[in-house]
Amino acid sequence: MKLKKCVVCDEYTLKEEHCKKATVSAHPPRFSREDRYWRERLKARGVVND
Ligand SMILES: [Zn+2]
Repeated sequence: MKLKKCVVCDEYTLKEEHCKKATVSAHPPRFSREDRYWRERLKARGVVND
């Protein structure tokens, strides 16, 4: 999964564009605990389904 981040509104997305701007790569969090939290947040937003 290649996660991207919107430079305009700071939303995480899988899309190449957001708010009509190209998104940038979101670096994976260093700690698995954060990663888990991050994924839960994305799941809650319906960005990812795993
Ligand atoms: Zn945006």
